[in-house]
Amino acid sequence: MQEAWVQLQCPACEENWEANVDDLSDPRSEFECDACGTRRPLSEFMKTARDLEVLRQFH
Ligand SMILES: [Zn+2]
Repeated sequence: MQEAWVQLQCPACEENWEANVDDLSDPRSEFECDACGTRRPLSEFMKTARDLEVLRQFH
């Protein structure tokens, strides 16, 4: 199976990290930033529109 990685960026503290889409849930689900604890829909943590597209393709 194809592996896909996306770039995430926290909208609150601007922490950047990379994640495998297999480890992420639906873009509409709530996600918590490990660095600052902010909770937002996962889609808001996608760094670019392309990252969001990749995530949607896998969910
Ligand atoms: Zn944060």
